Amino acid sequence: MEIDPVCKMEVDPATAEWKAEYKGKTYYFCAPGCKRSFEKDPEKYLNEEQGNENKLHMA
Ligand SMILES: [Zn+2]
Repeated sequence: MEIDPVCKMEVDPATAEWKAEYKGKTYYFCAPGCKRSFEKDPEKYLNEEQGNENKLHMA
């Protein structure tokens, strides 16, 4: 299973209808809205996965 970076839901890549490629990696989404949010601002969602330090720097 892959994690939807926007809502943190588990997505099965075999059945996922919504995906996006960013910096050579494929991300899977549970819904078109999640994909749209990710494509609008991918760094925002990817940075959140790295922990709290980046959040503080962005604040
Ligand atoms: Zn989602």
